[in-house]
Amino acid sequence: TVALMVMDETNSMAAGVSTSGWAWKHPGRLGDSPIIGAGIYADTRYGAAGCIGHGEYAIRTVAAKSIVQYMECGLSVKEAVLKVADEIIRLPKRMKAAIGLHAVSSKGEPFLAALGGFTEPYYFWQSGMAQAQKREADII
Ligand code: ASP
Repeated sequence: TVALMVMDETNSMAAGVSTSGWAWKHPGRLGDSPIIGAGIYADTRYGAAGCIGHGEYAIRTVAAKSIVQYMECGLSVKEAVLKVADEIIRLPKRMKAAIGLHAVSSKGEPFLAALGGFTEPYYFWQSGMAQAQKREADII
């Protein structure tokens, strides 16, 4: 999955994901990417979030919406992402979950937590930067 969170010059936010799903998946399996709230969510007032990796855990925790909702409740982007990472870790009957939780606050602060061996970097760009910066995830 590629997860993308953007903010325009009026501070409106949007999020998008593109996924191929899993190779050899069970026929009919629906991942988190097309489920608003699980794999993707944006609310201009609070922030935006997107998930990559084992989508079952994003679905079970309604991860993207939860991250944004925690920011609405006053948590920083990092605190909100780590709270949902913790919820995933504490899920009952959890197999090894490899998942990346990306989010951007309504102030434009990005954060990515990588769980369970997931080690993708992310790219951050804002107006005035000549090119996107490659940044590393916080490994959980
Ligand atoms: N999140 C996707 C899914 O569970 C997999 C991916 O990261 O591409 O279907």
